[in-house]
Amino acid sequence: MKTRNTLNYKKGEMITVDIIDFGENGEGIGKTDAFTWFIKDTVIGDKVTAKVMKTKKSYGYARLDSIVKESPDRIEAKCPVARSCGGCTLQSLDYKAELKLKQNKVENHLKRIGGFDLSNVEIEEIIGMEDPNRYRNKSQFPFGRKNGKNITGYFAGRTHSIVEFDDCIIGIEENKTVLKTVLDFMEKYSLDAYNEEDINGIVRHVLIRKGFATGELMVCIVINENNLAHSDKLVESLCASLGSDLKSISININKKNTNVILGDTTVTLYGNGYIEDYIGDVKFRISPQSFYQVNPVQTKKLYAKALEYAKLTGEETVWDMYCGIGTISLFLAKSAKFVYGVEIVDAAIQNAIENAKINNIDNVKFFVGKAEEIITGEYESGNIRDIDVIVVDPPRKGLDKLAIDTMLKLLPKRIVYVSCDSSTLARDLKLLCEKKYELKKLTVVDQFARSYHTESVCLLEQC
Ligand code: SAH
Repeated sequence: MKTRNTLNYKKGEMITVDIIDFGENGEGIGKTDAFTWFIKDTVIGDKVTAKVMKTKKSYGYARLDSIVKESPDRIEAKCPVARSCGGCTLQSLDYKAELKLKQNKVENHLKRIGGFDLSNVEIEEIIGMEDPNRYRNKSQFPFGRKNGKNITGYFAGRTHSIVEFDDCIIGIEENKTVLKTVLDFMEKYSLDAYNEEDINGIVRHVLIRKGFATGELMVCIVINENNLAHSDKLVESLCASLGSDLKSISININKKNTNVILGDTTVTLYGNGYIEDYIGDVKFRISPQSFYQVNPVQTKKLYAKALEYAKLTGEETVWDMYCGIGTISLFLAKSAKFVYGVEIVDAAIQNAIENAKINNIDNVKFFVGKAEEIITGEYESGNIRDIDVIVVDPPRKGLDKLAIDTMLKLLPKRIVYVSCDSSTLARDLKLLCEKKYELKKLTVVDQFARSYHTESVCLLEQC
């Protein structure tokens, strides 16, 4: 049979495809002859018709038109704007199937990229959420204008056009009240949302955070001016609609024509400028700018697994490379002799030091700088002797070569690798496990339900 190639498919043509796999962004994958199609909003097991959008030599993108036969794993998306919004990608997939998909994704990366034979590795069951909705403790809603009216929502995928909504199913219920209060306030005092094309208007974003353990709420209005007119009235309305849980209201000034949401200056309008939350027994002080895990319930489970893998008895020296605001360091400190944390962002280390103080944890020390350089320097100058455990939690790009070489020189008894990208995890583990370490255990933890991102934790031990 003659196989078709790109010349045969025209933009706008309708194709019928069985969805047999998921792509890296959670889109469905199907084939017609030797041609591979990426089709958003489809799930494995669907048979669909789709409109050809763009073709390359051997693959293309098509837009879902109709579902001819539903996958048994297909569910009705809970969110009415799930298809157009750039946030969730897996709203139409049953949550159990989503967890299976994520477990497979990590295992496949370890096999394919890492070259691991997983039959010798203890692979634990994925830790899913009890409820995959309402789990995010932080949301940043862009504001814009449509037909002369202020609107808010989320950006559509890959664009800056706002998909309007008044609630987001993975965010907290209070978001709805905050957004309505801010929109009513803008209407009453004739304040416009920022328009990035002709750079006018005032309100750019509203950032909302909640401490899940404490119930405390924070609202920060990001504006394109130095002041927010009538801000005392906004404070009054927000306090009236949110009650005593509201602990912080601020404005953040961002006058740059940029995609970065927050500017450098934050002015507190109400409260102390921060909220507090707990992960396990450890208290964290969070300001609008602080980095803080967005899913604290699952983060606690992730850290508990990291703690279990670290096998601490109270005698160990631990290094937490890429420590951010010290979340893992402080979580482990109660079970270790001493924990050193290293992080490249100075402000995060200031938070880490403060967080250690408010928790009365004094067996920790934090360094600002490149983890691989600091740890080598401290070791070579004799400041540290044996390292029992190194924990790493790098950004998506994973570890760089120097970090891996350093770890192989320092030879800790155990390495606990916390990863938010399983392809770079697999690449790094391959190098770490070439001679001196063995991959012993793996647990995938679902931190981001409805998206295709995975978080995992691995234990490596010396061979
Ligand atoms: N472990 C923390 C944060 C992990 S995110 C938590 O759970 O909250 C990864 C962190 O690595 C970020 O804070 C980033 O600023 C930091 N980082 C990136 N490159 C680094 C490097 N070379 N050395 C130290 N930290 C680095």
